[in-house]
Amino acid sequence: MSKNMLKYFHQQSQKMEIDIPTLIDEIRAYAISKYISPTVLKLCEKNKIPIPQKTKKLLKYSSYFEEEAKKWWHSYVYHLSNRLEGIKDFDIFLKLFPQYKTKKIKLRKYLENSYDLSILPLNLSKHLKNAVKNHLPEIGFISKQDPYGIKNKKSVILDKNERGTFYVATRKPKYATYLFVLTVPWAKDPTKGTFMCPIGCKHCYRGFETRHKQNIKIIKKLQDIVSSRISEQSRSLAKKWKEEIYDILVSGGEPLLFNNKTWKEDIVDIIKHVPHLYSFRICTGALALGLFARIDNELLRILTNMRDEYGIQIGFNIHIAHWENLTPEMIEKAYLLQKHNIRIMPQIPLVEGVNFWNHDLDKTIETIRKTSRLCAFVLNEPVYKYILDMQGSVSLLQAIKVYRYLFDRHQEESNIIRPISFELFTSHDTGNMNLSYHTLYAIQHNIDKKKKEVIYTIPHPAGTKIIWKEKLLKGINDKIGF
Ligand code: SF4
Repeated sequence: MSKNMLKYFHQQSQKMEIDIPTLIDEIRAYAISKYISPTVLKLCEKNKIPIPQKTKKLLKYSSYFEEEAKKWWHSYVYHLSNRLEGIKDFDIFLKLFPQYKTKKIKLRKYLENSYDLSILPLNLSKHLKNAVKNHLPEIGFISKQDPYGIKNKKSVILDKNERGTFYVATRKPKYATYLFVLTVPWAKDPTKGTFMCPIGCKHCYRGFETRHKQNIKIIKKLQDIVSSRISEQSRSLAKKWKEEIYDILVSGGEPLLFNNKTWKEDIVDIIKHVPHLYSFRICTGALALGLFARIDNELLRILTNMRDEYGIQIGFNIHIAHWENLTPEMIEKAYLLQKHNIRIMPQIPLVEGVNFWNHDLDKTIETIRKTSRLCAFVLNEPVYKYILDMQGSVSLLQAIKVYRYLFDRHQEESNIIRPISFELFTSHDTGNMNLSYHTLYAIQHNIDKKKKEVIYTIPHPAGTKIIWKEKLLKGINDKIGF
């Protein structure tokens, strides 16, 4: 795993006198021609989703591309091995993204000290020029800790073993869901399981631990409170199950980094016996952000056997950053999940510079509209939720305006496009909050000029109030009203 395979891509592309994105699209073209079904090709064609084509002048290398295409389609380890990583691939990174050349020294420091750069090969494709921004470093950005309160003391469920206390899951009071955050310590070989995520979104919405490869720290005395075995965590969760809960959402880091053996023996085979479990979901960036090859037949068998034998429905909450993430590879795998009756639930974290521009709402509307339409037209699913960036890059006021314009007017969009929810994730005890344009009328909006902060007081349907703070941005949120 530590072998620097990207250098191999680099050498190959030099030998062929092409750049890395062209090489990647050539491999994709061979994989697509062999493994993508006519239905998916038709959907791509109809929706103008680019389908890479074989290049005539590169036909002499066809046996090489065929070999690589096989790995492209079947091996997620191949994708992990070929990702572009921080300092290790610094020179290649600068060649691919010359806009960083003038900030080279600052970038190096940022990568050394604060940021875990990771770009999977698919995201280097010529056709993902906008989506790749989700993975490009934003020098100086430090992610917030625990932005959605998985460590909120009132919400965590802990257990004890001979080594001390460990984290089991998060459940906000009166919620029907257990958030089962897998917390095995970060391992050098990510396929052995880890809290980290190799997908490397620049504003990772899981926050500090994922970005910095750290484990959940809940009780100060015991610095690293982790379950060293996933089976221990699963058994403990099953033991502490409450009857009113019917849903489990497995999360990480990237939970699909665990191999199929771990998924079967240490998670599914234990959890499936819980009598009150009706819904089992996996929250993953793998499908849409570059690790589509992880969705293999064995994983599908493990999950569908649980459904068929125990009557537990399966869903995938998938992270989509931009409409370019709907690639033929991703759609084929989504289609495969759907053929097995597994529900796809696309969720879009709104992030400045990726799919949202506080200063350019027209561009934002165009991007969000296209992403929402493609999810409905291609995946046959509306977006399950928009998530206001928990790292604070997007103004709440602007986000509600976009939502109001696009979805609440019943004008330019059909109901098939309407997202199921638009959520504000908070660490507040009452939990997350669904927003609508009506929220604009109900929020109290205050400005603290000294602290350069905007403070919103938002009534929560549970009868409480949520305080939401964001940076004061000139021309964006510096006036009361909307
Ligand atoms: S896929 Fe999710 S966990 Fe992974 S880096 Fe992106 S936001 Fe973080």
